[in-house]
Amino acid sequence: MPLRAMNDLVAHNASLADELSDAVMRVLNSGWYILGREVKAFEEAFAAYCGVPFAIGVANGTDALELALAGVGVGRGDRVALVANAGGYGTSAVNALGAVGVYVDVDLDTQLIDASALDRVLAGADIRAVIVTHLYGRLADMAELMAVADRHGVKVVEDCAQAHGASRDNRRAGSFGHVAAFSFYPTKNLGALGDAGAVVTGDAAIAERVGRLRQYGWDRKYHMTLAPARNSRLDEVQAAVLSVKLPHVDAWNARRIALASFYAEAITHPKVALPAVDGTSYVAHLYVVRTTDRDDLAAHLRAEGVPCEVHYPYPDHRQPAAGDRYAGVSLPTTEQLCAEVLTLPCYPEMSDADAEHVAAAVNRWGA
Ligand SMILES: *Cc1c(COP(=O)(O)O)cnc(C)c1O
Repeated sequence: MPLRAMNDLVAHNASLADELSDAVMRVLNSGWYILGREVKAFEEAFAAYCGVPFAIGVANGTDALELALAGVGVGRGDRVALVANAGGYGTSAVNALGAVGVYVDVDLDTQLIDASALDRVLAGADIRAVIVTHLYGRLADMAELMAVADRHGVKVVEDCAQAHGASRDNRRAGSFGHVAAFSFYPTKNLGALGDAGAVVTGDAAIAERVGRLRQYGWDRKYHMTLAPARNSRLDEVQAAVLSVKLPHVDAWNARRIALASFYAEAITHPKVALPAVDGTSYVAHLYVVRTTDRDDLAAHLRAEGVPCEVHYPYPDHRQPAAGDRYAGVSLPTTEQLCAEVLTLPCYPEMSDADAEHVAAAVNRWGA
């Protein structure tokens, strides 16, 4: 059967249907729907999974970024360094705080923030924090980036929304920076049945602050100790769902990595550059190839019944919402990538035959 989409969430969640409906019914019958024992249990399990002491459940991944930034002291007018090729979520969080994004170009091969470009940006401006995005599920070189940030006294927020479980030397995404943000949007490597997110950190003071910021700035009921704060809570139903799914993330990631490894061998088209597959440090959230004739390849694949998508077509500094604020900013590698990247289907429920069909269709391009 041909692939119909970039994901199959029905098949994905059907594999756990009984446990998921038990979890949802347990919450329904508890009569307690916001910040109760399900959220607490998931926070503890997820912190342990990431290898950090603290996790704070929030409403979605963009809020997690915003609250993580606020948690390390970013506020109105502060500058935050970040990449411009990661879908705009970081920019959205920075803008919500009234802070100012300063864009850093990326490395052509890893498509992640370029450490020497970051070093130059941090040397040239007063920057409060940097967002390091583990784009497509590829863990950035955190040892190098933390050294650069520490040298300049800048806080590091990891954006792990695409990198649940990615690890290097047995350390997982989210355990390297001062604080980290996760999304559990349904298509992520760990996905809820709706919106959900979390902030994780090893720093008790940051955890305490984010815990207040997600709920009106309260330290206890009706007692507001921080402003501006907001309501961004993870709910009990999504927490119960996530607790069912968390034990399966490593197996799902292993299947994603196996598919990516298959593509790395099977796709041999001379005009298509492939991403490096690199043990568990790339959890293949998205399998993104590059070619100078991207739109032509996309049209060919769709004609062959292979779904594909562009992550992401518009760099943040060229978005209409940015106005002319970044008119003088040039990020050559970022701009090149936005024109060349194309995402192939890569999700745990794909069969080997599905992957063979995708690879063969890519190899037939232009033949
Ligand atoms: C999905 C995503 C987010 C935002 O998550 P939401 O839950 O959709 O708000 C942030 N950063 C990256 C890199 C993402 O892929």
